[in-house]
Amino acid sequence: MLKLSKILLVWLLFVSSFGQAMGYAPQFTDDSQTLRLRWKTNSIPIAISTSLTKPNPYITPDADIKGAIERSLATWEKSADIKFEVAWTEKQTVSPSGKSGDGTSLLTIAQTPENLLLFGSDAQEVSARTRIFFNRKGNITEADIVLNPYEQFSTDGSTGTFDLEATLTHEIGHLLGLEHTSVMGATMHAHTGKNGVYNLPSFGARTLAEDDVAGIRALYGAKNADDNCCGTINGKLTMLNGKPAKNFQVWAEETASGRVAAGVLSNADGSFQIEGLSGGRYKIYTQSGGKIAAKSYSVEKLGEVEVIKGRTQNIVKKLSGGKKNFDLQYVGFNGQISELAVPINGGKSYLIYVGGKNLKAENLIIGFNSPYLKVTPKSLTDQNYGDDISVVSFEVKVAAEILFGEYSFFLKTVNDESQFAVGSLTVEPFVNPWSSYFLSLNE
Ligand SMILES: [Zn+2]
Repeated sequence: MLKLSKILLVWLLFVSSFGQAMGYAPQFTDDSQTLRLRWKTNSIPIAISTSLTKPNPYITPDADIKGAIERSLATWEKSADIKFEVAWTEKQTVSPSGKSGDGTSLLTIAQTPENLLLFGSDAQEVSARTRIFFNRKGNITEADIVLNPYEQFSTDGSTGTFDLEATLTHEIGHLLGLEHTSVMGATMHAHTGKNGVYNLPSFGARTLAEDDVAGIRALYGAKNADDNCCGTINGKLTMLNGKPAKNFQVWAEETASGRVAAGVLSNADGSFQIEGLSGGRYKIYTQSGGKIAAKSYSVEKLGEVEVIKGRTQNIVKKLSGGKKNFDLQYVGFNGQISELAVPINGGKSYLIYVGGKNLKAENLIIGFNSPYLKVTPKSLTDQNYGDDISVVSFEVKVAAEILFGEYSFFLKTVNDESQFAVGSLTVEPFVNPWSSYFLSLNE
């Protein structure tokens, strides 16, 4: 019997009052969620502590530290109308929590008492933390990032370390005002892994998902006027009994490619808003999401819309409330199951694992909306991971011409109960060599 390898290393939530993980989401000043956080101007200061560049035990000796910092900043800069003002500083310690900081937005890895306070009992599971200061108008006035000095970072995929560039790219998303997203495979997803999860480097968060790009453009606008950005989809979902459908996952896929464009969670009143979308055709879906009882609702298609730059489309829908009797909770690869998306490459085949409740191969069909992904017929197989979780596996064939980005698969029963793993397969520029096609050739 194989044992469940549960790999749930968490990017720590950086401000405790923002405990709820939204969809791709801005941060708000308070729970009423009326005022979202962003920097007042598009010019954003960041001061890099010399604790990063001086020899230290927290970063592997040959790491490309400056390159990792520069690339993580540039990744966000090229996706939205923002510019970083980078300075270097001898400062080591972040501002203590309070109403306002010292005015310096610091990136540091120094093991000072104040920095260590950010890593309490969960020091072994967190790669970094970001603390935001903002004023009553919702303008961010300072954002300090501390890389966890109890951990080790690298830039070459060394097993057991965190990837420095991926970690920084995620934390800079927080610094800019973004919260965690429900789209697996996105840089702003709440979970990460150390290098070695799935026997692969954890480079995925180095590159932004379309969901991350939509999120940052919703706050700051597109970089260039000719980016065909941005349009908005607004909506309101109710249950059959008229009550608001709250905490439902709502996501948009590019109709032609099936790539995930953006995902959000519906608010307490059932409303949702997907901003920052490029012009084009999208299919919109919903299913139960978050941590509430609504977990058991099946997928419903909300429609297909043409997003047009500068315009807002509206979707008002009463959900039929169809239930499902299974739950897809984890994906996996190389025998490991986690909440981390599986990186794949075009032109190869991979054996993908799916974990959850009541998953039985004989009752299920696996499918994709993307024309670039196909399931190998009859490859859906039960796997034994013990009594606490049911696991099935299938082989996916990835077309050579697939675009970089996040894709979903769905599970469906003969009764039409269905659930998507939104953005759980991520087509990445780095190589995943564990192609089942090549493995079978070598047998
Ligand atoms: Zn985070």
